[in-house]
Amino acid sequence: MSELVISGLRVRVGEKEILRGIDLTVPAGEVHVIMGPNGSGKSTLAHALTGRPGYDVIDGSVTLDGVELLELAPAERARHGLLLALQQPLEVPGVRPATMLVAAGADPATVEARIDEEARRVGLRPELLHRFLNVDLSGGERKRAEIVQMGVLRPRFVVLDEIDSGLDVDALGSVARRLQEATHEWGCGVLAITHFRRLLHELVPTAIHVVSAGRVVASGGPELAETLEEHGYEPFRQTT
Ligand code: ADP
Ligand code: MG
Repeated sequence: MSELVISGLRVRVGEKEILRGIDLTVPAGEVHVIMGPNGSGKSTLAHALTGRPGYDVIDGSVTLDGVELLELAPAERARHGLLLALQQPLEVPGVRPATMLVAAGADPATVEARIDEEARRVGLRPELLHRFLNVDLSGGERKRAEIVQMGVLRPRFVVLDEIDSGLDVDALGSVARRLQEATHEWGCGVLAITHFRRLLHELVPTAIHVVSAGRVVASGGPELAETLEEHGYEPFRQTT
């Protein structure tokens, strides 16, 4: 079975070590959710997984079915089946979603039709995806556009950083459902970073992991979200 394995991952940004040894395994078809207070390193994890410059991996590994992703260029990581949806999707003037998706491996013969079909599934007007990538889209539309990319590309694993931010309750429901369906349709493994429990009404996590000060400090089942709702992150907070 396919697996995304993050082990002992330490990442420095500038002089500061932000991730101080992250261990996480996401098997295919499972939904793992990372929660944690602001500044705990959640987005840093997403950036390090994409290979963004300035996020220096000082130790650890990230493998997908045994292939070391950290040694690969960002585009290569995508080709090996890892798709990342960042907290702030970038605007890419001059590039249309279809062009980008074909470059990432989508079939040119069907890409337009697949975009339209996936757009409808998340309640996005398809014409928004025939313009330049993310240009003039609202925050919530960009988030849904990322889900459309996932539906077209069918990656083995998807990592989503705050996909729920900026979505109204209907959009949130359709995004959560689309992710859940992806786990059945092609066994997609999902690693979703969020600090809202509301994403989890329709996206049922296999596991929840709490990150604090650059480490996973607790892991549990869906019930952990209720503990967090009730008591906040304070019981899990670590500063050293
Ligand atoms: P989260 O997503 O959990 O809110 P981040 O990963 O964005 O947290 O940030 C973790 C810590 O790393 C914060 O202290 C933040 O200030 C710092 N950090 C993240 N990215 C950068 C950056 N590009 N430059 C400087 N500091 C950064
Ligand atoms: Mg963040």
